[in-house]
This record gives sequence, C-alpha cells and structure tokens, in this order.
Amino acid sequence: MDSQWNEEDAGQCNGDDLALRVYTSRLLGADARLVMHGGGNTSVKVHGRDFFGRELDLLYVKGSGWDLATIEKPGFPALRLEETCMLAELERLSDVDMTRELRALMVDPGAPAPSVEAILHAVIPHRFVDHTHADAVVTLTNNPQGDAIIAELYPDCLILPYVMPGFVLAKQVWVALQEEGLQSYKGIILAHHGVFTFADDARTAYENMIELVTRAEAYISERYAPARDRAASAVDLLALARIRRAVSEQRGEAQLAVLDDSSDAVAFAARPDVAEIATRGPITPDHVIRTKRIPLIVEGEPDSSVSAVAQFARDYEAYFAEHATENLTMLDTAPRIAIWRDHGSIAISSTLKDCRVVSDIARHTRAAIQAGEALGGWDTLSAGEIFELEYWSLEQAKLKKGSGETPAHLGKIALVSGAASGIGYQTCRELAAAGAVVVGLDVDASVVVSLADLGGVGIECDVLDDAAVIAAVNSTVKQFGGLDILVCNAGVFLGQGSVEEMNIADWERVIAINLTATQRLMSVAIPFLRLGVSPAIVVVGSRNVSAPGPGASAYSVSKAGLTQLARVAALELAPEGVRVNVIHPDAVFDTGLWTGEVLASSAQRYGVSVENYKTRNLLGTEIRAVDVARMIAAVASDLFAATTGAQVPVDGGNDRVI
Ligand code: ZN
Repeated sequence: MDSQWNEEDAGQCNGDDLALRVYTSRLLGADARLVMHGGGNTSVKVHGRDFFGRELDLLYVKGSGWDLATIEKPGFPALRLEETCMLAELERLSDVDMTRELRALMVDPGAPAPSVEAILHAVIPHRFVDHTHADAVVTLTNNPQGDAIIAELYPDCLILPYVMPGFVLAKQVWVALQEEGLQSYKGIILAHHGVFTFADDARTAYENMIELVTRAEAYISERYAPARDRAASAVDLLALARIRRAVSEQRGEAQLAVLDDSSDAVAFAARPDVAEIATRGPITPDHVIRTKRIPLIVEGEPDSSVSAVAQFARDYEAYFAEHATENLTMLDTAPRIAIWRDHGSIAISSTLKDCRVVSDIARHTRAAIQAGEALGGWDTLSAGEIFELEYWSLEQAKLKKGSGETPAHLGKIALVSGAASGIGYQTCRELAAAGAVVVGLDVDASVVVSLADLGGVGIECDVLDDAAVIAAVNSTVKQFGGLDILVCNAGVFLGQGSVEEMNIADWERVIAINLTATQRLMSVAIPFLRLGVSPAIVVVGSRNVSAPGPGASAYSVSKAGLTQLARVAALELAPEGVRVNVIHPDAVFDTGLWTGEVLASSAQRYGVSVENYKTRNLLGTEIRAVDVARMIAAVASDLFAATTGAQVPVDGGNDRVI
C-alpha cells in the first residue's frame, strides 16, 4: 500500500488544518482496504474562538452519517476539546449520557453528531488523529497466534486488547496514556478492531497509517497467495429466485438478492470447508449491523433454501436468547449474506445501495478469512462480544437514521415492456420512486440511458424476438434475484382504416406486437413470478375494448385479445398467488402512439376540435401518462392484494362504458 499524498493537492489547502484534515481523510476513505462505507474516523485539533470571540481549543472530529471517501468540512463538527477530554476521566458514562454530553460540547449544535470515538480522539494529544479498520491488521489479530504476530510486527505501537468501542475504548486508551504516554509510539493497534495513528501534521499521521497497514499486508502476502481460478458455472435462476423468496418471507418484506459470481466468490463458495470457516464471525464487529454475525449457507437440492433459511432463523433466535441481557427486542431473523455452494455469494437487502455495501463487506470478509486460515486459523471475537455490538444502541441508531415509512415497492423487482416513453416510462418512474428496482425493455435504444437515470436497467429488446425476451428476463433475475412485477405495456397503433380496407401487413404486425408478444413475455416471466414476493402482472389494455371506435379494428382486436389473455392468466395463476389485472387507459395523448397526425384525424372523425377531443370524457379532464402509471403502480401494490382479473379504467369516465 503506497502513500497517495500529493504535494500539489495538499498545497491547495494553504496550510488550513481543517482543509488538510478533509484531504487526508479522503485519501484514507478512497481505499477500501482501510475503511469501507462510513467506517473509520479522523480528527484535528485547532485553536479557535467561540461566539464571543474567546480563544479555545477545538476538536474537529468526523460526524456520523459522513463517509471518509467523500467528507467535506461540514462533516467535521467542532467540540470543546478540554471538556471532551474530561469525559474520559469519568468512572463510567452511559451511552445516553455520552451522546447528550458530546452534543452539548458542540460549538454549533446544528452540526452532525460527532463520531462515537470522539472522546478517544480527544485524549490523544497529537493534532491529527487517523483511525481505520484496515483488513490486513484486523486479519492478523483474528488469529490464534494474533497476539504474538502483532507484538512481533508492531514493537513501535501501543497494543490493546479488544473492548467495546465508545466510552469503554476511550477509557482504555486514556488509562494507557496516563501510564506510559504515546511519545515513543507510532500508532495504536486495537485487537479485532483497527488502527490509530497520530502526529502534529496531517502527512505524518496519514503516512504512518499507510506504513503500519503495509507491514501487515506484507506479512500476509509473504505467507499466502489467494487462489482465484474458479470460473462461474451456469446459475439455476429458479433456485436463486427461491432463495430470494425464502429470505424475503423470513424478513417479512421483499429483498433484493444480488449474486456475486466473480471468480473469487465462486472459489470461496466451492471450498469444501466453506460452511465451517464462513460462519465463525465477521472481520470486525461493526460489520455485524450490516451483515449479521454469520452468513446463510445454501447447498444441496434447489429446494433446500427454504429449510436452510428456517434453520438460520432458529439459530439466530437461540443466539439472541443466549446473549440478550436487558429488555432487548430481537431484530429480524433473516440473513444478509448467503454463501451459495459452488455459485458465489449473495448480498441481501432492500435497496441496491445496501446490497453493494453488503457485497463489499462479503468480498473483504472472504479474503480475510482465507488469509487468516492460511496463517494459522480464522479466530474472531466470541458470539457474545459480537452480540454486544449488534445490539449496542449507538450502532442501532446508525441504521435507524432516515428510516421513515416503507415505500410500497421497496425491495421489489419489476419488468416493464415498452419502457422508453409514455405510459411505460412513467410507470418505471413511479415504480422506482416507490422503491422497486426496474428493468425496462424497449425496441428504442434510448431506454438504456433513461432507465439508468432512474437507477434501473434499460435493455434494448424487440418483444417479437423470443430469444431477446428470454435473455432480458433471465438477466433481470440474474442481476437482482427474482421478479415480482410484470407490466405488459409494449404496443403499437397501426392499421388505420376500415375492416374492408385493412392492410394485412399492418393487421398482422399489430396482433403480433400487442397480443402474441405479450403472451410470449408472460410465458417466459411466469415461472419467476410464481416465486416472486406479492407477485403481480399488470396489462395495459384500452378503453377500445369496451367502447371500440370505427377504423381501428386491428388495435381494438389486439387489446380485446389482451384483456381475455389477462383474464385467463388470472384464473390460471390465482392458486399460486400471482395477480393479473388490466388497466384501460383512454386518450392519453402524451404517448408515442399519438402523433399530431393521428390526433387530428381522430378529432376530425368525431367532428370536434383537437382540444375538445382531448377532454371528451365525463369528468372533462385530460388523462396523462403519469395518471395511468400511478394506477399501474397502485394495482401492482398490496393495495390491490385482494384483486385479480379486474379491469380498471383510467379514462375520465366514458358514457359508452358506464
Ligand atoms: Zn473503529
């Protein structure tokens, strides 16, 4: 690991200590071997002034909710240093008292809450203090010979056994400093936790961190080379969807299941001893709030995931019963990581963002476990010590932040055809806004960019191409773990003219795209929808079905056929819990179907102006694509959990239908 210090970049800080603090914090945050996803913390001590202009010493320490990789000056709340140090002298300090007192010591009460390690940063006398959870160092402490290895590698560091972070750890360091000071030390090694380095200048504190971690990395790489020669084998996508459903049911809400089948994930999952070595514990205890203490292991028959998840939940209940001391409420009993024998590692969470966090932790964890095994054994903290951190109120507070009402489609996976514009695109927006991961298909390649902008995936796909449709559905399941919502929206409006004059090519094309391709798409998706969470199919029909007009026979017939297809599907799929409903929009003019020309000729046919034609419904209201999209999202949600085979108009009321 090399120092990334750059004189030119550092020079731009113009000697401003807080700017330098931001600069080297970002250097640390940029390397996942040092810190991951909000882990680690840093500080700087400066002379400042209070509101009245009186001089005082301030501690700027990382605020909670900030990530070192992207931190800025406002991410460092300022605390009164002297009083913060005094907290370490107390005999004991409850979490509630510590949180309140630290807040009271903030110069700006509106700044973010300071790190739970603020007191520790305060008692270290040096101006710049850096703290990471470097994989390599912690890996060496997670070893039966860890103490001896660390003593040999770090004669110039203060080495401390594991204690709970927060006040207990600050107190432990404060006591050690009273006894021997830090002058002769380059850093502090905290067993099973991480590293502190410190100096009166930003560069030395940072580069000491790099040097200490590099020692551990060198020690490991001299003794162990990771084997990464295992290619991914074909994945049974139905088995993946089964795992996802079992975990979602255990969690009580839809979860994404993102498979990592990189060569190192597969190699780990293929180790004969994986079930044993993967379930000894995490690299550092603060991962537990993201990953739970151990992963789920899935192996054997495709159906075995249901019983494996049930066993995981029973084991978790036993773990809780054994270690719960006070009036604790048990967290959910569902796993966050599944090691799928021979196939890789699955990250399980409600959002893609959280899946990425879990997946990153899983990748670092398996590397650490295997290095540890090669160096004499992977030996983590006890289950009781991990439990203490999992149920520590200050850790739980991190998870609760920002959790409000659960969006209707959180954790759901949706596939929408005809997604590039109009009703299809608006439906993607609505579903994504309600928490779903959305895959949009369209023959128009612009869908790739427009869906990416929604945080989803756009696939250029002609629904007439069976192979392309199969590939798109498979890719959806492979990426996210399953399929819950199918919106059949792709359609064309061609073949104007009377029945007598109907052009055969137009007729066949309309029937092929609007009707036959929808049957094919349903047929490919149904096996996965059966394994979905509150699964639903929504078919976009048309007011034409119940109130056809002259001159559009192909379109009307295709939509009538589609409606009947949906009704039959509703009958066939109801026993398996898949709901199928039809939306009948009318006169939605902000879609691709309605060119100015089509609009004008339709208005003419009814003998009204274009403006009157647009609002010629009982409510006299213009129907927009987004109105239809909102209804589709609602019908796909649990609001309509007891509705199948229904036909819902979104047409402003039509006297010919009512
Ligand atoms: Zn820490």
